[in-house]
Amino acid sequence: MAFRIGVLALQGGVAEHAAAVRAAGAEPALVRRPEELAGVDALILPGGESTAMTKLLAISELAEPLGERLRGGMPAFGSCAGLILLAAEVDPPDARTRNYGAIDIAVRRNAFGRQVDSFEEDLDVPELGPEPAHAVFIRAPWVVRAGPGVQSLATVAAPDGSEPKIVAAKQGNILVTAFHPELTADIRWHALFLSMARA
Ligand code: GLN
Repeated sequence: MAFRIGVLALQGGVAEHAAAVRAAGAEPALVRRPEELAGVDALILPGGESTAMTKLLAISELAEPLGERLRGGMPAFGSCAGLILLAAEVDPPDARTRNYGAIDIAVRRNAFGRQVDSFEEDLDVPELGPEPAHAVFIRAPWVVRAGPGVQSLATVAAPDGSEPKIVAAKQGNILVTAFHPELTADIRWHALFLSMARA
């Protein structure tokens, strides 16, 4: 049977991720209910608003099944709010966001602050090849702590001049980006996830 890539379709950039999955050569399946989650082999968690998604996960009765699938090793790719859901914790703590701990990172929400609320930048990402990756940041988080098993894939300079911040990372079959690859025509992040998921 074909490998099925799900897109969590409760809120946020669902259509954009589905289009990027198609462009990368797979057929996406939208996941809104527990039966739909049970039918996919891997899952993309889009950007949007992590507190809203946390509420919608509970309302749609996906919150616990999603935790079970992630603990069971389901490959997952989270962008922005999706990264927040896959992280081990948010710092400072915020009980309004669920953090599944699929990747051993702590993240700061809305980390870039008001002055650079949204911005775009070309990132150097050796994992994707020599061409820089254009990245769209929208009220983005950054990684404040990464465990030893986590591979940083890209960093950006911090607006306050402190050390560069990790904005893309992977651990096992979990991929996270603080920005929105689904808003660009660059499908390399989705292609990377498909190859991680199928491995
Ligand atoms: N600031 C949002 C949050 O905390 C994330 C923004 C995004 O996904 N574009 O959930």
